[in-house]
Amino acid sequence: MPKPNKKGDGATNADARVDIPDPIKDELLRRCKRVCCMCFGLRGDTEIKDGQLAHLDRNRTNAHIDNLAYLCLECHKIYDLKSNRVLAYTPGEVRFYRDQLYRHHGHDQVEWTLVVRANRSRYEIVKKAVDEAHSMLRKASMDVTFAEEPLG
Ligand SMILES: [Zn+2]
Repeated sequence: MPKPNKKGDGATNADARVDIPDPIKDELLRRCKRVCCMCFGLRGDTEIKDGQLAHLDRNRTNAHIDNLAYLCLECHKIYDLKSNRVLAYTPGEVRFYRDQLYRHHGHDQVEWTLVVRANRSRYEIVKKAVDEAHSMLRKASMDVTFAEEPLG
């Protein structure tokens, strides 16, 4: 049975919005720099605004970073509109402008480093796995560099 929430308003934790983990929030805020995707996409507005994170699939338990977008309060209101007279922002358009904003801020490209520490007896296994990954990524035309250093 779900426990009552801390607010004591009769709602249970099962009803409550699931907290977005801090590392996801941090990464998303770093990508958007607190610029609202819709203000950016529709008006080229790159001003920093007070905002909220919107769940694009409207499922508050889905905290995957691809399901979230930073919207200013006004745009979040339009996104959440339930009106048959005014067309609310759609998940597809928010996603489109969000991705444009991320590209604008240069976060569409990532670089990551894989560090493998293994003893020499496992070297051949590790080397084979890394070579296969390397070759697969090169075939997909990705920019891959491979460096190997003995640990002394
Ligand atoms: Zn906005």
